[in-house]
Amino acid sequence: MNFSKKHFIDNELGNYFGDTRILEFLKYDKKGQFKCIYCGEKANSREHIPSKIFLNEPFTTNLAILPSCKKCNNSFSEYEQYLACLIDYVQYKIDNLKTVKRSKIQKTFNARPNIESEFENSIKYTQNNKVDYIEYNHDKIKSILLKLSIGHAIYSLSAIHLDEPNIINYKFFPELTQEVLDNFNSEPVFDIAPEIGSRGAIYISISDDNTPISTWNIIQDGQYRFLAFQDKSSTTIKIVIGEYFFSELIWKN
Ligand SMILES: [Zn+2]
Repeated sequence: MNFSKKHFIDNELGNYFGDTRILEFLKYDKKGQFKCIYCGEKANSREHIPSKIFLNEPFTTNLAILPSCKKCNNSFSEYEQYLACLIDYVQYKIDNLKTVKRSKIQKTFNARPNIESEFENSIKYTQNNKVDYIEYNHDKIKSILLKLSIGHAIYSLSAIHLDEPNIINYKFFPELTQEVLDNFNSEPVFDIAPEIGSRGAIYISISDDNTPISTWNIIQDGQYRFLAFQDKSSTTIKIVIGEYFFSELIWKN
């Protein structure tokens, strides 16, 4: 079986045959009437999904670009820095790396020392003074996972979710057993095929027995991948950042 990993190519909608009602959420230019994918208000800005803070340079050319309003766009950037820095910081502190992994994160720490001191203050130590765990700010993490997942759901599945998801799960690599990891990484079989024309339809593979399977989209190898999946009862977006942070959002219909 050969599951080819397909990538976003660009935001050209010339060949878009999906539900035209969501077109206003799929593109942004200054002249058109496009809507913010997060709040549904008029878009006056655009947004890369995933945000570049989660990627290394040089950036890939396969990033989705979606309409947003400036208010939403700006409101996320602080929390995005928090999550991107946290993912490196946990590895640095828990796995005893010599330094944070990504140069972009080191630059962010240098420019905004308050982020690192927030992390320092949230470390819990054992009685013999070893790092036990880091207390995360769940609200910040959840808000960014929601943001990223809304973008992937619209772009890949033509599914608009402005409501709260039913499930938000996330874990760091050391918290996962091999069994949980294998299960997480498995590529699910669709019981309904995504609408023809939606990008989701582009990312499914056909298995030997002709069942459609949704595949992981590798945005940057080792740094960011996601899987978007829909069945009769739910929409699921899984995101893996740095092969260290694993998340899953589910909206039930
Ligand atoms: Zn907005």
